[in-house]
Formats: sequence, structure tokens, C-alpha cells
Amino acid sequence: MRLRTRAIHVGNERDPQTGAVVPPIHLASTFVQPGAGQWGAFDYTRSGNPTRKALETTLASLESGCGSLGFASGMAATHCVTMLLEQGDHVVAGSDIYGGTYRLLHKIVNRSGIEVTLAPSTDLGAVEAALRPRTRLVWIESPGNPLMSITDVAACAELAHRHGAILAVDNTLATPVLTRPLELGADVVMHSATKYLGGHSDLLGGALVVKDPELLKRLYFIQNATGAVMGPWEAFLCSRGIKTLELRVREQSRTAAHLAAFLAADRRVARVLYPGLPDHPGHAVARRQMDGAFGAMLSFEVAGGSEAAKRVVESTRLFQLAVSLGAVESLIEQPATMSHASYDRADRLAHGITDGLVRLSVGLEALEDLQEDLEQALGRAAGG
Ligand code: PLP
Repeated sequence: MRLRTRAIHVGNERDPQTGAVVPPIHLASTFVQPGAGQWGAFDYTRSGNPTRKALETTLASLESGCGSLGFASGMAATHCVTMLLEQGDHVVAGSDIYGGTYRLLHKIVNRSGIEVTLAPSTDLGAVEAALRPRTRLVWIESPGNPLMSITDVAACAELAHRHGAILAVDNTLATPVLTRPLELGADVVMHSATKYLGGHSDLLGGALVVKDPELLKRLYFIQNATGAVMGPWEAFLCSRGIKTLELRVREQSRTAAHLAAFLAADRRVARVLYPGLPDHPGHAVARRQMDGAFGAMLSFEVAGGSEAAKRVVESTRLFQLAVSLGAVESLIEQPATMSHASYDRADRLAHGITDGLVRLSVGLEALEDLQEDLEQALGRAAGG
């Protein structure tokens, strides 16, 4: 079955008792056991829940994994991966990663005696130079956030494995519709399910998908021991969202590509970062690695720098000024003061996240309405 069909049918089998086409939501926290010391399919919702299991089954299929784990948030999922590490281990992370992942690595994980090096993951030489004998984890995002950098997942996997590390990919922006990192050699895929998977700005969740059953067992042990699982209600909403994932991602990407071209042709815009533009440094890799579209996220720098960018993000009417991304509503934000405020300023600037940068999450509204909104906001910003 194609991905779009699996998104609807795998994990969503009809309820055998009632014939209901949509499986019921199981809110129970505990399950009756067949006998003392005997375990059924489920016993306690932290350890497993039928509604969460349905979502995990769908996600494993979409990402070509052997299994998946649902978490309370994307950060909880990321944290679970870092808990595989021990004192003295080392992590290499791409420099264009979500601000919260940067904060987790530099302000929490480091407390356990784990060292972290940032390297531009678009530059394989820089990644290789950052690897050490104790590097156990390489963490990347593609497209990266907020610069929309494109990392060659297959090449990074090969590099990480050659040095005895695993490769984890935050696939939140690409989604399995556009990139399937496990098929390219990665070991772990992580999602903020809050974003495209849910797709409607109404749930917080995270997920891991892996292809090695042994690694799945280790991650499951940590998840069950630490407890940051996704609740049944969120799992239901996420499963519901996933049914339209491919339609949303393809349509939102189509609109984003038009808006990127529109912005690139506007002299009030200094530069546009969108992997679908032929002059984007990652365009060739994106063309090969992404499945027929380049995603629905883009960033741009307004001529006039920080103040002009602030005026743009405060002037749009349809694009709402908010962090997060990936939903049907279009959002706009200034990474330096919002999604990436948790970066140290020096690191932020060193990695090209300037104060004048504006990030768009393109939703499902009509292209014409979104374009008119950007047009009027740029006009107001330019007019002071
Ligand atoms: N990864 C990316 C790319 C994100 O955008 C986010 C959230 O904004 C996260 C991870 C963290 O996910 P959550 O907010 O669900 O904890």
C-alpha cells in the first residue's frame, strides 16, 4: 500500500466488538490481568495503551521502522534518545537544529558529563572533524530549523556508523511524506507530533521510530522507566491528523514554493531560504532526498534588518505571530527572539540565525490570501 493509504488504514483497524470504523479511545489507566503475575497485551497505560499503540503502529509503517514509541512531547522523545548515553560520551549535533534541542543538549544533558559539539551537518568534513572516539550519537535535522539547510542523511549515517555512533534525525519538518530517514540509513527518527503529524495546533506529542528491535527495546525500557508517554486523547488526535498528512504536506508545500518565489522576486527581501529554490545551497541534495516537494517552511531576511523584520511579523493578519509550525493555520515568527531564543546569542549569530530573519510556517489557506497578506505586511514594514 502507498503511504497515503497506510496513513488511513494501518493501525486503524475497525473495532471488532462494534464494527466501528474508527477505533475507540481507550482512556483506562489500568487493565485487568488474566491472573496474578500474568500479563495480557496491556497492563498499565504508562507501559502501553491501545490508542497509543494504534498511533505507534501507523508511524512505524509510515517511517519504515520496526516499531515506534509515543511521547508526551517532541522534547520528551529527544530526551529519551539522549538517555541512551553515559558519562564521558559525546554527541555531535547539527548547528541548524530546533532551539529546544540545543537547550536540552547544552543545559541538561551536559550535566551528566556528556559533551556536545555543534557542527554544520551540511558539511560532511565538519561533521567528521567533530567526531571523537566517544561519539555515540549524531543528531541532525533536515530541513534544518530555521535556516532550512539540507543535510545528506545517507552520507551522515554512513559517517556516524563508521565511527561507532548512531544517527538520529529530527524529521519533524520533512515528515515521512517527503523524507524517510530510516530508509536512508538513519537509526532513529524523532518527531514533534505537535507539528505536521497532528497538523491542527491542538495537541502536544512526540514520537520515536527505529528500525532495530534491540534499540527499540532499550528506548522502550527508558520510556517506561521515566514515564513521559503520550496520553490516549493526544494519540487519538494525532492518528486522526495523520490520515490527511500527505494531502496537507503536499498542498502546503505547493503554496510555500509559490510564496518563496514571490518573496525572492521582491526587492524588500534580502534573501529567501527555501530548499526548493534553485539557488539554495541544499537544492541538489533536497531534490534527491525529498519526495517530490520541498516542505512548507521557509525563512527570509527583510532588507532593513531586525527592526524591519519585527515590523513584518507584527503586521501580518493571516500569518499569526506564534511559535510552532506544521498546522493548517499559517504562522510567522522571528527565530532570534522566539523559537531560537534559547540559543546563546553568540552561537545563534555564528550559525547564521540573524535578528533580521523571519520564519514562515505555511498553512492550508488560499495562496492568494497568504501572498496578499505578506505583500501588505512588507509594505507596512517598508513604510515604517
Ligand atoms: N523539533 C522541532 C523541529 C520542533 O520544531 C520542535 C518544537 O517546536 C521540537 C522538536 C520539540 O517538540 P515539542 O514542542 O513537541 O516538545
